[in-house]
Amino acid sequence: MIIIMKRDASQEAVEHVSNIIRSKGLDVHLSQGHEVTIIGVVGDKSRLSDQNLEIAPGVDRIVPVTESYKLSNKKFHPQPSSIKVGNTTIGPGTLTIMAGPCAVESEEQLLLIAHAVKKAGASFVRGGAYKPRTSPYSFQGLEEEGLRYMAKAKAETGLNTICEVISAEAIEAAVKYVDMIQIGARNMQNFQLLKEAGRSGLPVLLKRGLAATIDEWLNAAEYIMSEGNENVVLCERGIRTFETATRNTLDISAVPVIKAKSHLPIIIDPSHATGVRDYVSPLAKCAVAAGADGLMIEVHNNPACALSDGPQSLTFPQFETLAKELVPYAELAERKF
Ligand code: PEP
Ligand code: MN
Repeated sequence: MIIIMKRDASQEAVEHVSNIIRSKGLDVHLSQGHEVTIIGVVGDKSRLSDQNLEIAPGVDRIVPVTESYKLSNKKFHPQPSSIKVGNTTIGPGTLTIMAGPCAVESEEQLLLIAHAVKKAGASFVRGGAYKPRTSPYSFQGLEEEGLRYMAKAKAETGLNTICEVISAEAIEAAVKYVDMIQIGARNMQNFQLLKEAGRSGLPVLLKRGLAATIDEWLNAAEYIMSEGNENVVLCERGIRTFETATRNTLDISAVPVIKAKSHLPIIIDPSHATGVRDYVSPLAKCAVAAGADGLMIEVHNNPACALSDGPQSLTFPQFETLAKELVPYAELAERKF
């Protein structure tokens, strides 16, 4: 439940109510806006049943939160969140473009791509060092060596860096080298990993599971946030449907639905959503028009020889063209990149 304080409620009144909640062994999540203060209660609210909080000084009303996710819930935090990562923020007013190869393949490859995506306007270079491949015989990633190349790419270009993690060991290594970690679609319900990501201290990009509902996705975000890490960004990357013309089906409605249910930023990955390079650009524009806070796009210096996801990777000229074409869409959405 949330406790909405009166507009003129004093700080003492807010503290009084918060203390009552804490004294019952529950956690308090404070959202202090310009107009109103909301006290979110996290935990078993039946422990408060003997407390008449409705009549406590400064309390306006109490609203039950029926959803199982609380910290990621818009009711707990009505204003959209801005998440600080490296030298940038992801959220209202900005269009964050993350671009790079599916997998880090070599130092030369990553540096070449990082310089190219930076020139076109990206603020992040992405690249997998731990690859959760469908087949165990496919390239599995360079692991810590790949992370070192990510750190080098950051040092050379000033770009922020993001890398997927698939285990507690990968998280331990990633914290030394990158600005943000990514939990991939296949691990969205790996609850132990979500908790580890929550404890890592790094901002987390949480991709939607291949067949996850929005409710399940927000509960996955809740796992990270409940460990004290509120820096979570969601990424819609397509879901499994009966359609086979594309690798997945981009659920563009996830953007307005997430905006209605959560304060967390949401970005779109049209590369994994389609699996086909020609479809990436139209869906990227559609994502910005729908209100997404950013894009994650796979780019490769030589897609035909990529060790993974070549067919969906844009070439440098294609990415440059897309970035230019996104400018009017970003302007209309009142976002800068
Ligand atoms: C990736 O970003 O390279 C990736 C594996 O994505 P997803 O988890 O969305 O399949
Ligand atoms: Mn990929």
